[in-house]
Order: sequence, then C-alpha cells, then structure tokens
Amino acid sequence: MKKYHVVVVGGGFSGCAAAIATARQGLSVLLIEKTNALGGAANTALVNPFMPYRTEIDGQKVDLSRGIFKEITDELEKMGGFFENKTAKETSVFNEEYIKLILNRMVLQAGAEILFHAYLTGVHKQGEKIRSITISARPESFDVEADYYIDATGNADLAYFSGCPYHLGRPNDQLCQPMTLCFRIGNVDMKKYEKEKPEITPLYQKLQKEGKIKNIREDVLIFRNVATNVLHFNSTRIVKRNPVDVFDVTQAEIEAREQVFELYYFLRDHFEAFKSAELLFTAAEIGIRESRMIDGKYLLTQEDLVACTKFEDSIALGNYDIDIHNPEGSGTSHYYFKNGEYYSIPYRCLVPNNAENLLVTGRCISATHEAQASLRIIPIVCCLGEAAGNAAAVAFQQSVPVEKADIKKIQQLLIDNGAAI
Ligand SMILES: Cc1cc2nc3c(=O)[nH]c(=O)nc-3n(C[C@H](O)[C@H](O)[C@H](O)COP(=O)(O)OP(=O)(O)OC[C@H]3O[C@@H](n4cnc5c(N)ncnc54)[C@H](O)[C@@H]3O)c2cc1C
Repeated sequence: MKKYHVVVVGGGFSGCAAAIATARQGLSVLLIEKTNALGGAANTALVNPFMPYRTEIDGQKVDLSRGIFKEITDELEKMGGFFENKTAKETSVFNEEYIKLILNRMVLQAGAEILFHAYLTGVHKQGEKIRSITISARPESFDVEADYYIDATGNADLAYFSGCPYHLGRPNDQLCQPMTLCFRIGNVDMKKYEKEKPEITPLYQKLQKEGKIKNIREDVLIFRNVATNVLHFNSTRIVKRNPVDVFDVTQAEIEAREQVFELYYFLRDHFEAFKSAELLFTAAEIGIRESRMIDGKYLLTQEDLVACTKFEDSIALGNYDIDIHNPEGSGTSHYYFKNGEYYSIPYRCLVPNNAENLLVTGRCISATHEAQASLRIIPIVCCLGEAAGNAAAVAFQQSVPVEKADIKKIQQLLIDNGAAI
C-alpha cells in the first residue's frame, strides 16, 4: 500500500492550496482528484468569475484573500489569463484553461503528487483515527495510507465516510441552495448586446409570467468572458434536489439541460445580438453551491459574520455578501458588508468531530446555511485550503491530533506567505 504523510482528496482551489501548503513544509503529499484537471468547480462546473474579495481600510484598498490565492492570480495576470478589458466589476473574469495549467505546475513545484481519475469511495478507521482510504480507479480499487488527511471534496465525502457528524442545507428542511448548470454562448454581437442588455430580464420575466419560460430563476445572469463575442451564463436553477443523492443530481442535470436550451432559444428568438449566436458548451457537471457541511469544533453562523467577529484562531477573512439563491424557487437574498467591514473564519471550523487526523476545507467546513453562503466563494475557499495544508503540516511535525496543532504556528506560516488572517 502506498503511504504518504498527507493525502488531500479533491483538487478544487481549496484542495490545491492545501496540497501546495503541506508539500512546501517538506511533507509527502498525494492530491487525489476524480476528474482530469485541477480547479474544481471552476473547471467542472465552469464557475467564473472570482467573486469580490477586496475592501477599503483607512482609505487603502486591501485584498482579504491573499497567500496562495494571490500567487495564482499573479500567475494568471502574468500569463494573460484575465479578462483584458478590465472594468471595476469584471477584473476577476478568468480563463479556466490557464487555471488548470497553473495549478498543475504549482502543486508539482511544491513537491506534491497528483492522481487524476481517482475517486474516493471508502475510509478505514481505527477508533478516532483514519488508517487508510479506498480509491476507485479504472480498472480497480486500491487503498492509500497517510498520517493525516484533508477533505477538500466540496461535499465532505471523506468526512462522511469517516462517520463525522454533518448537516445538509437549512436546519428546518435540509434544502440546499439551488444547483446550476453554467454554459457559454458564442458569436454574440457585442455592440447590439450592450444596447439590448437592459431589455433581456424584463422580457424574460414577462414570458415567465405567461408560462412560456419554465426556469424559476428571477433574472438572466450573464457575465463577460475572456473570449471575444462569448458570454457566460450562470442562470439555470434547480431546486429541492439533494446534491449528494446521485439520483437527484441526475434529474437535476436533465432538468437543467432543458433550461439551457430554453434560455438559448429565448435569446436567439428575441434579440438581434443573438441572431447568429451559437450554444458553445455546458459545464461538465452541474454546479453544487451547497451540500454537506461538517459539524466541527465550531459552527460559524450568520451572526458571527454580521458582527464581523475576529476570532483568536482566525485563519482566513471574508466580506463577500451573504448571497442566498432561494432553495425553494425564485429570488436571491443578499446581506452586503459595508466598505471596511469583514469577518474572520476560525481554525476550529476546519476540525471535524470523530476523526483526529482529518481536516476539512472548502465549501463544506463547519458553517450554517447562511454563513456558508458568503464563505463559499473561490478566493475564500482557497485561503481555507492553505490554512488546512499548513495545519496538517504542523500537526504532523508535532505528532498531535489536528485539534491540538499549535494555532500560533499555523497562523505564522500563513502570515509568512502573505495571507490575511
Ligand atoms: C453555479 C455556481 C456558481 C458559482 N459562482 C461563483 C462565482 O461566480 N464566483 C466564485 O468565486 N464562486 C462561485 N461559486 C462558488 C464556488 O465555485 C465554490 O464554492 C468553490 O469552487 C468550492 O471550492 P472547493 O475547493 O471547496 O470545492 P470544489 O471546487 O467543488 O472542488 C472539489 C473537488 O473535489 C473533487 N471530488 C469531489 N468528490 C470527490 C471524490 N469522492 N473523490 C475524488 N475527488 C472528488 C471534485 O471533482 C472537485 O474537483 C459558485 C458555485 C456554483 C455551484
């Protein structure tokens, strides 16, 4: 059986940052990913752009997500992978192909090993300790052993297999935020689009009222893209489906695909800008905003965020709005942080119960439905991953359960790499 100091499962921004941070501390690391590339939802679900992560403190613009995230965005900038016609709102539209390459290079340069096409399907525990995990890969399954594990699967698969307590969605009905299949349309006449843009949602809403549009989302959410004459759509909406039940997710994929064509035909049939437009592609997987979240050593709440709580064991910061797409139907609610306001995320949210050598990072950390609605964005989950990676390294060096890892040491490693905590 292959053995590593740390195994990270899930190659999204969070898992990559975790693998990079741990490997930089000289530990042997295996990063396991079920697809063929790194980037997670930015790759498989076509999630784009990076949501905002800046504020203003004492008249100075401050990035709240830095460290490895900044290294990635610096590299993107250098390679020309950002949207070139930068406007204040759209500086963070990026080319996901560059991301996949950058992450490969950064993970390998840090000294970690990558394993693609490998699916975590089981955990072997002895008491509170995970001994090994089972990986399913074509054509067979095998076990891998590590001293510490990091769950960066988004759905908390590793924590779930380890018997760690978790919750799903809202406490009263377990409904999660909607799932969305993102897609791109090309050959758009951009000049006409700029003129017609204000008419799109009103007409969509009118047709929705008349029963001619079935999609329950309240508006048409469109973003620019790095490519000329291409628009990105984050506008399908599937509600009341369980994102960790494969039968439900299959139904979600089927319903969302109908919505993609409904939107495409709507635009093509009613707007000059889309007369010669072509549906280019849909995401490889429907995007899951929210699913399992662990019940860890601390449960981060909306109250903590709104109070801009600064925790002693802070490992990341955030100020993205509490952005809740209605889990039942139409509408999206927002709580916006004022300029200069931000909250912190405590290390304890990454520490699960019932498994002493496991850390959980990314959108599945210990948080309520509302708190997760803010911290789930790519810049923040990347910072959480860097913290989880450093924490695993510190726990390994000290030979202690992750809960007992020296938080001052973890924070120092983060600060040394430019992170904001
Ligand atoms: C539709 C949608 C729109 C969004 N819009 C934005 C936006 O505009 N901007 C923004 O910043 N954020 C946005 N978000 C949020 C953001 O994309 C995610 O919350 C974030 O990417 C989560 O990162 P992660 O690393 O925690 O998980 P993921 O990115 O989901 O990465 C998890 C990785 O683990 C792998 N994996 C999962 N299970 C297994 C397993 N069992 N074995 C092996 N590998 C496994 C997956 O293939 C994946 O690569 C959006 C999310 C969605 C769904």
